[in-house]
Amino acid sequence: MVAARTAAAGRSSALAPRRVSVLGATGSIGTSTVAVLAERLGDFLVEAVTANANATQLAAVARKVGARVAVIADTGAYADLKAELAGTGIAAAAGPAAIVEAAGRPADVVVAAIVGAAGLAPTLAAVNGGARIALANKECLVSAGALFMSAAKRAGAAILPVDSEHNAIFQILDGRDRATVDRIVVTASGGPFRTWSRAQMERATPAEALRHPNWSMGPKITIDSATLMNKGLELIEAHHLFGQPPERLDVLIHPQSIVHGLVSFADGYILAALSAPDMRTPIAHCLAWPETSRGAGRRLDIGALSSLEFSPPDLDRFPALAIARDALAIGGAATNILSAANEIAVTAFLAGRIGFLEIARIVAETLAGAGELINRDPATIEEAVALDSAARRIAEDLVRSRVD
Ligand code: NAD
Ligand code: MG
Repeated sequence: MVAARTAAAGRSSALAPRRVSVLGATGSIGTSTVAVLAERLGDFLVEAVTANANATQLAAVARKVGARVAVIADTGAYADLKAELAGTGIAAAAGPAAIVEAAGRPADVVVAAIVGAAGLAPTLAAVNGGARIALANKECLVSAGALFMSAAKRAGAAILPVDSEHNAIFQILDGRDRATVDRIVVTASGGPFRTWSRAQMERATPAEALRHPNWSMGPKITIDSATLMNKGLELIEAHHLFGQPPERLDVLIHPQSIVHGLVSFADGYILAALSAPDMRTPIAHCLAWPETSRGAGRRLDIGALSSLEFSPPDLDRFPALAIARDALAIGGAATNILSAANEIAVTAFLAGRIGFLEIARIVAETLAGAGELINRDPATIEEAVALDSAARRIAEDLVRSRVD
């Protein structure tokens, strides 16, 4: 049997162990989550771990945390997964429906760390199961925020933001009257092209765009950080999480990534939350909430900081942020289309099919070419997925028209 299930000696809390599932357990957030869980196995029982296609890595994760079940989306990888888990007592399953089933299994916390719209159905299944959701998969809120938040309310599922800026803001707002909020600010490192001209960005390669100065993350969000689309997605995420209108949400460039979020209140105070840039800190916070975790990431030495800089973003050099803001002002269908088109454009850039500046252009042209689709605010997950697919087809045609 798996060592983890009997590792009560590692227990750091008097509370009963929490049952946790990790969706996207092999990714950047998934790996950080597994590191936090593995350090405190006595505090957690791991129900399900899931991944897209890498059976060997998923099996290793499942063995490390002593998961009950490991689920792979790619059915072609099922035989490998089963073979890797032979004799461990860990069940194997495969296919998108099996991931949705695993996500909906009873759990105290489900870490939603799949990237992109692929996470929508599983995360919604976890919400409907009533688990607390440690939400990294921000595209869920961008694609179907209203639907997602009302499902959470109905099911009594708390949504705890893993995204560092939103985790900071969640903590600042805790116990405060939301009516006293003047402005919520998410900070942005500015990414690898913070000081680059448009002419330089026109020639930027995927390798250059993947070289983030402060964070080590999956490829999609790293490119989103280079275009600043990530901050646009985060404004939309903040709108749904904190119930604030677009005009109360803002972005500041802060190259040090130490202050993650700021909230200014009616009384003139601005509260900020600071930590070292290490995703294990917000992940451990979400896993422990409402208790306070011991913390898992690097510690911040305030005395060793020489400066903290803040400046407004340059929307001429980074138009993706303005496009996302416009989509937020239009509403749910527009942000769904924005997110789908962005996924297609980022994939095309990483494959060397289009240039870096084409990413924002394709997103803008997809929105402009969406016609009456833009009025179809999705009321069900089926509608959200159909809208996402239609937007992908438009964006893919735009990519093809540039490549041909
Ligand atoms: P990643 O690419 O490193 O990992 C993605 C995970 O999702 C992997 O486990 C992969 O196997 C799985 N996956 C991918 N496609 C899938 C599919 N079709 N079906 C099932 N599983 C699939 O991504 P990441 O950087 O860990 O980001 C995950 C999410 O967290 C994203 O939404 C991202 O925006 C958000 N986020 C990440 C960070 C970070 O530091 N990496 C910070 C804030 C928010
Ligand atoms: Mg973030």
